[in-house]
Amino acid sequence: MLEIRNLHARIEDREILKGVNLVIPPGEVHAVMGRNGSGKSTLSYVLAGREDYEVTEGEVLINGENLLEMEPDERAAAGLFLAFQYPIEIPGVATMTFLKAALNAQRKARGEGEISTPDFMRAVRDAGAQLNIDSDMLKRPLNVGFSGGEKKRAEVLQMALLQPTMCILDETDSGLDIDALQVVSKGVNALRTANRSMLVITHYQRLLNHIVPDVVHVFSDGRIVESGDKDLALRLEAEGYADFETTAA
Ligand code: ADP
Ligand code: MG
Ligand code: MG
Repeated sequence: MLEIRNLHARIEDREILKGVNLVIPPGEVHAVMGRNGSGKSTLSYVLAGREDYEVTEGEVLINGENLLEMEPDERAAAGLFLAFQYPIEIPGVATMTFLKAALNAQRKARGEGEISTPDFMRAVRDAGAQLNIDSDMLKRPLNVGFSGGEKKRAEVLQMALLQPTMCILDETDSGLDIDALQVVSKGVNALRTANRSMLVITHYQRLLNHIVPDVVHVFSDGRIVESGDKDLALRLEAEGYADFETTAA
């Protein structure tokens, strides 16, 4: 469960988030759509705890705990998972090694011991079963030379392994090809459960034909200006953002 109340944030001297209010109950998938430059990625970076962003007002609770006071590793331990539009490449580190490190970091922040190799192998096999992950891919360095679809497979596999309660996917501008689109939507849909919430940030209406959201929010100039059901995404695509922006002003 995620609760964002009157969130304001700036980068350098520029205010980007101007009072975001958003509550995502357990089990719901919410989509945030908005024009390029409206501040959607800034919202995901602030939730991730990136250093360059200064929160000037408001609060964010994850399962009742104050997210903004947590270090990034504590956020992961609290159940937050963020997938970004530009996946990082880690030359020299096999994808498998990276995944194990991510899982162990989460366990450590929760005060749990390291996972054994057999348990880890089993967890990867189970999580990867629906994702068509070939073992060759897991031996290659994370994201280095991966196709769009492979990057998404690695990302969804990481998500499935960490079993987050709150997933945030920023897919804006990423121009997913058909393969990547199917990987993301199949993987995400398989992870929809009664106690896991998701925030899907996109300006790609088509993604929402595959990951059907419970609620759609329109983002404009650093805040949510309208919320509705999945048909709102279709209306946005047909009518554009201009109408919503004038009602917000
Ligand atoms: P969106 O994801 O909706 O396209 P962003 O959150 O990426 O929007 O950007 C919101 C605004 O913040 C844009 O106007 C962008 O130019 C500005 N911005 C992003 N990063 C910086 C930065 N490092 N310094 C100053 N302005 C920035
Ligand atoms: Mg953008
Ligand atoms: Mg963005």
